[in-house]
Amino acid sequence: MAIPSNDIPAPVSAGPSAPAAEGVDPLEATYQRLESVVRQTRPNEDLEPLRKAFEFALHLHEGQRRDSGEPYMAHPLEVTLILAGMMMDQATLISGILHDVVEDTPVKIDEIKKRFGEDVSRIVDGVTKLSKIQFYSREDRQAESVRKMLLAMVSDVRVIIVKLADRIHNCRTLDGIKDPERRKRIAQETIEIYAPIANRLGMGKVRGELEDLAFRHLDPEGHAQVIHEIATTRQASEEFLAKIKLIVEGKLKENAIPARVEARMKRPYSVHLKLQKQRIGIDQVYDLLALRIITDSVKNCYAALGVMHNEWHPIPGRIKDFIAIPRPNLYQSLHTSVMGPEGQAFEVQFRTEEMHRVAEEGIAAHWKYKEGKRGQAGDERVAWMRQLVEWQKEMRDPGDFMSTLKRDLNTEEVYCFTPGGKVIMLAQGGCPIDFAYAVHSDIGHLCVGAKVNGRIVPLKYELKNGDVVEILTQVGHSPSKDWLTFVKTSKARNRIKHVINAIERVKAIEIGEKYLEKEARRLGVALSRISSAQMESVATEYGYPKIEDLHAALGYGKYSPRQVLHRLVPESVTETEPAKTEQAPVPPKTGNVLEDQDLVLTVDGMNDLLINLAKCCNPIKGEPIVGYVTRGKGVMVHAKECKNVDNLLYEAERRVNVEWTRASGRTFRVRLTVYSDDRLGMLNQITSILFAENSNIQSLETREDNERGEGKIIDVTTDVRDKKQLEKITATLRRISGVRNVDRIQ
Ligand code: MN
Repeated sequence: MAIPSNDIPAPVSAGPSAPAAEGVDPLEATYQRLESVVRQTRPNEDLEPLRKAFEFALHLHEGQRRDSGEPYMAHPLEVTLILAGMMMDQATLISGILHDVVEDTPVKIDEIKKRFGEDVSRIVDGVTKLSKIQFYSREDRQAESVRKMLLAMVSDVRVIIVKLADRIHNCRTLDGIKDPERRKRIAQETIEIYAPIANRLGMGKVRGELEDLAFRHLDPEGHAQVIHEIATTRQASEEFLAKIKLIVEGKLKENAIPARVEARMKRPYSVHLKLQKQRIGIDQVYDLLALRIITDSVKNCYAALGVMHNEWHPIPGRIKDFIAIPRPNLYQSLHTSVMGPEGQAFEVQFRTEEMHRVAEEGIAAHWKYKEGKRGQAGDERVAWMRQLVEWQKEMRDPGDFMSTLKRDLNTEEVYCFTPGGKVIMLAQGGCPIDFAYAVHSDIGHLCVGAKVNGRIVPLKYELKNGDVVEILTQVGHSPSKDWLTFVKTSKARNRIKHVINAIERVKAIEIGEKYLEKEARRLGVALSRISSAQMESVATEYGYPKIEDLHAALGYGKYSPRQVLHRLVPESVTETEPAKTEQAPVPPKTGNVLEDQDLVLTVDGMNDLLINLAKCCNPIKGEPIVGYVTRGKGVMVHAKECKNVDNLLYEAERRVNVEWTRASGRTFRVRLTVYSDDRLGMLNQITSILFAENSNIQSLETREDNERGEGKIIDVTTDVRDKKQLEKITATLRRISGVRNVDRIQ
């Protein structure tokens, strides 16, 4: 009985280097073999585009040779043969033929797009990008983040499938690479990056072959030993399996369970891992020998399990139900190990045909070409992902693997490259500033511009997976406060704050000192006669360890110079200005200064301060608020929920508590957007509600709802007393029939 050892479609002959028929070019012969493989399952497909791609690539790779000496073109052809064996669609096959063209020849991706269309160019571009990534260290390669990155980078999973086929062929021909270091590096990358990715995508066959091929080059001795051990038991095993298989087939038939039975031996690399991990001998590997029972329904999987357990004793603790709880990569099967005749243990797997297909091909199964059903692959892929997410929800302990897989599929990170090819990971939405800080703080501080994929972009530019980012720097440059409004990574944010705080503090100290001097002069206090010990003790009273901290507080406007002078020389300066004297230097009033501030807001512990309502969030009475002491402009009041609060209120020290006072006749202007049906009398109803509330309408405009294509959007600007009134108004507006929603615009 034959036990399959290599499940991936291998070349029928040894490829182009094999003797070709007289007069037929070996590459042409391989191409024809490719066509015939496609024809086996798709006799009617027009293969003209594939032929065109072959001739195009043949021309481009002309004269190039592989390490082994054979023409380079043999490689893309063999890769495509692997893809054809996986029954991939023609776009994938063409991409396989062209996969090294952009990397290794002068042809640009635009040319590919023009000749072979969007799909092919996207796949080839993805494969090209993947091949540019350098894995600098062992840590790089082993990092889960690298595997995540590779998945995140591809918008089209066919990119990964082509890359895996490329890797399979490169590994099959590793012997042709003369440099042992390079050989080893490729093998290592394969085991550490590509095999886990194949596993992640459920591609069991691909993973198995990659591991076994790489294992042989990575650890030739270990490989030889495992092969030797398997070989010594092989003949006995095969006879044993053949005997068992007959018994099992008989029992299944007796029980009317339709099934086919496959026998298999564990792969060398898996055996190796097991021997190493469990420190056991090969005779103790229960699943070295396995039977696979493939039946028609889930019910029959369990029924067949019962039949087996009835025949032989199950080994305790070896039953695994991956049907009820699929593996994260969607693998489903029942596993058990039983003690067979002559005390020989073996594993049995039970699965349906569908489970078998998923276990062997994984995500590739969903891309498989189906005649007459083109264009469905995308939907199936979406379904596959949805299924993943659903299964995850059902699983009680999804484990780290599952949660990272979920993240892979809706990535929260963006992976970009330095011009040198180093990978930089950023939060989703990250910009060149984030990138610059991720590379080095100094690069961040000095950043004045950025190029993405060779083009100058604004610093706010949202980076995408695979972008190559070059940061332009200028000596002496320092970070801008604006940056805080758009950076996404905490590293960038913290560094920027740090520098800005330092700069602001220096300025504040300077200003504070000047304020104090000016006020002292005006009040006739000789500062020179005040000792630094006196100054220090007043600073301590305010809770500052150093005089310069007090100066900074003055500079920020947290206290008035007069208050400080009063503490220094209480006998000559009163705490507040005596009536009708000249006013202290007060910063100019700007914007929405509240004239009747005392009636509306109180800022705890502070007098003499201007209070401004921030324009960004325009807080209204009753809303939770926070104050922020600005330099020279008094206290800026933001709504607690305002997103600028986190961005701009970077110094906890400058944050102050503010509260609304009870009585005030002031009103607050708010902008509302009403989404409604296009209905007669709607405006009338809206205005009468506002009139009834005594709310003063400032403007009212109607426009089409272009986004939904139907209905109206009504923008209302009106004045309200407080949050409570606003809530009442919006609730009443929402109750109008035909009103779908009311939003407050900040
Ligand atoms: Mn290649």
